[in-house]
Amino acid sequence: MEKNPVESTSCIFCKIASHEVETKIIFEDDLVVAFKAQNQIAPVHILVVPRKHYTNLNGLTQADEATYGRIVRVASELAAQKKIEDGWQLFVRVGKGGGQEVMHVHFHLVSGQHV
Ligand code: AMP
Ligand code: ZN
Repeated sequence: MEKNPVESTSCIFCKIASHEVETKIIFEDDLVVAFKAQNQIAPVHILVVPRKHYTNLNGLTQADEATYGRIVRVASELAAQKKIEDGWQLFVRVGKGGGQEVMHVHFHLVSGQHV
C-alpha cells in the first residue's frame, strides 16, 4: 500500500486547503495552511497542515524537509502573533494507534491549557 496516497477527494483537510470547504484560514502559503481546530481543546488551538496530502508522518524523505521545516516555522510565527511565546505545545498524532483521527497530517498548536 502506498504510504502517502494522493489526496482522496473525501479528505476534509485537502478540501480546506483548496478552499473547497470554507473555513477561516489563519495562514497559508505554497506549502502550509493553518486554521482553527473544530473542537477547541485549549484557548488557542490551531492546526498547521501541509497543503499537500500526507496521510501521516511515516515514510518521509529528504524531499519533505522543506514542508515540515515550514510547518514548525509557521507555528513559531503564529505563537508570536498570538503572544503565547511563554508557553505553547506543538504535537502531531501518527496513525490510529497514536490517536490520529483525521488522516491528513496536522500539527496541533495549543496554548492556555496543558493537554
Ligand atoms: P487528531 O485526533 O490529532 O487526528 O485531531 C483531529 C483534529 O481535527 C481535531 O483537533 C479536530 O477538532 C480537527 N478537525 C476535524 N474536522 C475538522 C474540520 N472540518 N475543521 C477543522 N478542524 C477539524
Ligand atoms: Zn488530505
